Amino acid sequence: MYMRYCSRLFSAMAGPRPVVLSGPSGAGKSTLLKRLMKEFDSVFGFSVSHTTRKPRPGEENGRDYHYVTREAMQAAIDNGEFIENAEFSGNLYGTSKAAVQAVQAKNLICILDIDMQGVKNIKRTDLNPIYISIQPPSMEVLEKRLRDRKTESEESLLKRLGTAKVEIEFSQKPGVFDTIIVNDNLEEAYGKLKQSLHGEIDKVKKITTSL
Ligand code: ADP
Ligand code: 5GP
Repeated sequence: MYMRYCSRLFSAMAGPRPVVLSGPSGAGKSTLLKRLMKEFDSVFGFSVSHTTRKPRPGEENGRDYHYVTREAMQAAIDNGEFIENAEFSGNLYGTSKAAVQAVQAKNLICILDIDMQGVKNIKRTDLNPIYISIQPPSMEVLEKRLRDRKTESEESLLKRLGTAKVEIEFSQKPGVFDTIIVNDNLEEAYGKLKQSLHGEIDKVKKITTSL
């Protein structure tokens, strides 16, 4: 009985594996992860990144990102507060240690939405996440989605499309991602995402009900 209690406690303390979602801007990462967090709100928690970019309409400070100045972010990076950080399309983005710890302290599966450089840097840490790549069906569809989203200036859009080509190539390297999901039909892509995570989702549900 005591041993069973200890092993349950240990698996709860060790916590579930985080999940990294990556892929070109406009591929549908936010759309998919928001849906996942809505359906499984007691299973997943979002790692709220810091960024120097301006909030988009509808985005909220502290929920979507921590919006900060470059000076403040650079000082926090220099102070060792970040697990990883990257420059993307003219802005700084980064995952703070506190963001991940806040989710893990609740025994939730921590979801990170990060770019290719973030993936490379996380691979050098002991976070040990599941790596999932979200890909668009084609560059044409990606451009249309980014344009229709109406969040980018022409300059930012072109920068993002340029980076997207490199991100697509990167995702095709063997061994980088555990799963690659092409987000063509949203329902199908969401089904595949849930399928690829169902083992981890079950683990969290078991821990929650056994404690
Ligand atoms: P990302 O977070 O990867 O930058 P978003 O989730 O913001 O991408 O999606 C980019 C745009 O494409 C959004 O306007 C979103 O509503 C739309 N979108 C996402 N998935 C699909 C899909 N399967 N079919 C059509 N439009 C989609
Ligand atoms: P957006 O400006 O569209 O929200 O994000 C632009 C890119 O930055 C996306 O590829 C997104 O995954 C990435 N990103 C968001 N937060 C982080 C972060 O904390 N670290 C890294 N490396 N990339 C991030």
